[in-house]
Amino acid sequence: MPQVTIIGAGPAGLTAARTLRDAGIHDILVLERNPEAGGLPRFAAHPGWGMLDFHRLWSGPTYAKRLVEAAKGVTIATNTTVTAVHPGGVLEVSGLDGQRRIESRAVLLAAGIREMPRGARLLSGTRPWGVMNTGAFQEMVYRGGQLPFRRPMVIGTELVSFSALLTAQHLGIRPVAMIEAAPRITARRPGDWIARHVLGVPVRTGTRLTRIEGLDRVEAVVVEHAGGTERIACDGVLLTGRFVPEAALARAGHLDVDHGTAGPAIDTLWRCSDPAYFAAGNVLRPVEHSGAAALEGRDAARSIIRALAGELPPSDATVPVTVAGGLRYAYPQRVVLGQGATQLYARVLQEHRGRLRLMADGRTILDRVIHALPERRIRIPLDTNMLTSASRLTAELA
Ligand SMILES: Cc1cc2nc3c(=O)[nH]c(=O)nc-3n(C[C@H](O)[C@H](O)[C@H](O)COP(=O)(O)OP(=O)(O)OC[C@H]3O[C@@H](n4cnc5c(N)ncnc54)[C@H](O)[C@@H]3O)c2cc1C
Repeated sequence: MPQVTIIGAGPAGLTAARTLRDAGIHDILVLERNPEAGGLPRFAAHPGWGMLDFHRLWSGPTYAKRLVEAAKGVTIATNTTVTAVHPGGVLEVSGLDGQRRIESRAVLLAAGIREMPRGARLLSGTRPWGVMNTGAFQEMVYRGGQLPFRRPMVIGTELVSFSALLTAQHLGIRPVAMIEAAPRITARRPGDWIARHVLGVPVRTGTRLTRIEGLDRVEAVVVEHAGGTERIACDGVLLTGRFVPEAALARAGHLDVDHGTAGPAIDTLWRCSDPAYFAAGNVLRPVEHSGAAALEGRDAARSIIRALAGELPPSDATVPVTVAGGLRYAYPQRVVLGQGATQLYARVLQEHRGRLRLMADGRTILDRVIHALPERRIRIPLDTNMLTSASRLTAELA
């Protein structure tokens, strides 16, 4: 019976494991369903990893390796999937040696995210081979050494979409175009300039995929834009981004899930609705970069250390946080009072230039001018010692 079990050996889970080990907690078990630890970075071979947590600029596979090395001494069980969570820190686990139950004093959910697959995007057309998400494409390329297509159409312009372009460049292939339904790209500029002028891939905003054509293989896509519909020949479709937290365990189990983030709801001490469970990293909300996930893993581990020492305040005395007026979500969803400085994080549904307000029972406690984009995280600082008697916090745009 480990004291702490961590679900997921990505940046969040491995950083949490390292933090717990460094605090002298030795009976930690990390469970990872893949054959190797390291999480999503393992197959994203472009640079851009490790800046926030290691202060280095590595490729994804190097970063994954360094995370595993840094967690040396912690038991990591790979090929092991957690199939259910039960009250009080009891897990059902399936590995190469069969099924078992594991009970621990604390469990950290660090199961990451996945991109929205074709089925969930409700795309029309035929169902040929060659339609995939970025993660599957990169695994196919870097793990399997395969070349799934030569002229794919890239759907989406989130940061991950540019990761797909870099993988295409590594393969020596060039996507026919990258399309975005919104009037501007989702990632930061100059992403579109780099795509066009450095990678040679046209970027078309205001353009929506309506149909995929082809029998065995993808032959074309039909897109819609201000000028009407257009059929574009291509041999693959890369559906990038539109991430959803890998929160099936929380949803199927007894843990509260937030509608806005689609991840488990937590308080400002990283506790889920069952205080034996904590959560950190991308399982909490659609994608952030790996450094943010790793630092959340570290902070959640610090909270677990306090929980094991019996130092955490009760989990039922919290103030709920709700969102209004154009905010997609805010998390943590509950604030624990009297715990000093903390942060809430929020995202907008659409680009917003205006004000962001945080209200406590109708009283404004923060009011600031923001320029927010859907892919950028908004930080809302909060001093929980100043809030002695609030019953509800509301974050809203104006
Ligand atoms: C294509 C792509 C490119 C990216 N590029 C960058 C970049 O350049 N720089 C950057 O900083 N970030 C980048 N990101 C974001 C980065 O990958 C994530 O922020 C980071 O991996 C999140 O870490 P995590 O630990 O929360 O989740 P993950 O890395 O997703 O790890 C979660 C782990 O949990 C495991 N797991 C899930 N469910 C279970 C279960 N039931 N049982 C056991 N194990 C389970 C998964 O197998 C996985 O290994 C990119 C993301 C993608 C998809």
